[in-house]
Amino acid sequence: MNDSSHPPGFNPVRRDMLLQESRHDSYKLKGKLHEPTYCPDCGAVFHTGRWQWLDKPKDAQQATCPACHRMRDHFPAGFVWLRGDFPATHGQEIMQLIRNRETQEKAEHPMQRIMEISSAEDGIQVTTTDIHLARSIGDAVHHAYQGELKFHYNPEQNLLRVNWSR
Ligand SMILES: [Zn+2]
Repeated sequence: MNDSSHPPGFNPVRRDMLLQESRHDSYKLKGKLHEPTYCPDCGAVFHTGRWQWLDKPKDAQQATCPACHRMRDHFPAGFVWLRGDFPATHGQEIMQLIRNRETQEKAEHPMQRIMEISSAEDGIQVTTTDIHLARSIGDAVHHAYQGELKFHYNPEQNLLRVNWSR
């Protein structure tokens, strides 16, 4: 939980660079997915090149989706750290904001889920199955409370670390 140190492979990245990043999460996927594919764990359906919330198609193959794989393996793609006096005193309010953001994003994008929210003395940590949700949570907190927001991206593994402080 040290703000100034980053694991190898993570580089500072501008927010607008991240917006251009739209590649699919291929975590634990073996080759190209058949369409439609149904995830037996969460019910998401891979159709027209993306995971969606749809009724289970009759001709669907089954495969666990990347988000469910990440949850099972406890292997997040996104990490958000919120630090400072403000999160220490407004923890409940911030966590509600984070949950609301997840609900909004997940409704449209089934792969964007919160894995864990943990609260410690020095702040709040959130892990996500998708880098876009981590970015979105950072944006939501920054929009609501200002403060300082930084992104570090690992392009090799498509991992994102978001640091916010106030
Ligand atoms: Zn799934």
